[in-house]
Amino acid sequence: MKTKRLPPVFVGHDIYRQPAYGNNHPLAIPRVERVIDLCRALGWLQREEFRPSPRAGAAELARFHTPEYIAALRQATQEGKVDAQARARFAIGTMENPLFPGLFERASTCAGGSILAADLCLEGRIAYHPAGGTHHGRADRASGFCYFNDPALAILRLLDRGIERLLYVDLDAHHGDAVQDAFAADPQVWTISVHEQGRWPYTGSAIDTAGGRTCNLPVPSGFNDRELGLLLDDVILPLGGRVAPQAVVLVCGADALAGDPLSSMALSNVRLWSAARAIVALAPAAVVLGGGGYNPWTVTRYWTGLWATLSGRQIPDTLPPAARAVFEGLECDLIDAEDVSPRWSTTLADTPNEAPVRREIEVLRDEALRRADTGCWSAARRLMADAAPIAAATLPAAGAIPAGADAIREGGRHAVD
Ligand SMILES: [Zn+2]
Repeated sequence: MKTKRLPPVFVGHDIYRQPAYGNNHPLAIPRVERVIDLCRALGWLQREEFRPSPRAGAAELARFHTPEYIAALRQATQEGKVDAQARARFAIGTMENPLFPGLFERASTCAGGSILAADLCLEGRIAYHPAGGTHHGRADRASGFCYFNDPALAILRLLDRGIERLLYVDLDAHHGDAVQDAFAADPQVWTISVHEQGRWPYTGSAIDTAGGRTCNLPVPSGFNDRELGLLLDDVILPLGGRVAPQAVVLVCGADALAGDPLSSMALSNVRLWSAARAIVALAPAAVVLGGGGYNPWTVTRYWTGLWATLSGRQIPDTLPPAARAVFEGLECDLIDAEDVSPRWSTTLADTPNEAPVRREIEVLRDEALRRADTGCWSAARRLMADAAPIAAATLPAAGAIPAGADAIREGGRHAVD
């Protein structure tokens, strides 16, 4: 396992405390703000660990998004309305991607947070930005509740700073379609997505390898902890290791958890925490993002415990009163009151879901490995063999990263397995 040189950082902002998405939208629930409050209530967020997210400027956004789309989103937010032509062209002001006060500021703060996280991870550490993970945003339009594509912007920042081999892993319940498409032709980026089959956006089939550096793992409903463990041990970690990534960008959508109203995967948060820990260990630098997640209780528990895991803290069996208070007043239109488990506000860790591994998961594994061996992943293996020792291969070319990021050179050089 490679070690990071510097302690993890948490990137956040108070803008997420403001109402957003209007009424009757699945994202009109408290998420990141409760994670920050719960981390603070548990004493897990020291002043030096927290970095406020800057707002991405137009030039930063234009690294991925078209100037026309950026301008249209800004104008619609300023005017509080969007005309039919702009709605059709940019998919904003719709039920799916509603217009609401502060939209442009919120979306560009989210984008700026992931760009900052990329800069911070280049110092040789984990940068955690749970507000990020808007993986459906297209260069020229909104999609799937996502306006800007902050994972793509983080990846581009890392490439611009000299990273030459990057691994993107997406554990959200929905296929990371826009990130896959953005980098399908880029020989420096490999992508892996685990998502529920038959869900919107209905892409990411097992035979879809994009340019050859993509591995899609569409899983059946009820996907459980042992099944994730099998795909992790047999596919995700071995293929990720072949890339010998200099940086990992990981999307941790909380809709992969049991109890999410918009998906029917059945993972426990404890399994996802350990999966995230193993995935970020593949590289000396990592950006860890949030994503979907529509049950405010399970989102808050997952992402708070994820920060604890990434920052090396012990998760208690039961929460103290100050931490339980963070869950007070939570409600969600998509979840019936009788379905709210009392454990959701008294504990952090789920009971593991140790149902058996189904045959179709083994078939999926075999198919993924077969396709990887005939695609660019085998080239990645040769590349890794040529680049031994791995630690030396983690170094961006001299002069390719700014002076302030000297640490990654040291962090990479001294990375140990
Ligand atoms: Zn999702």
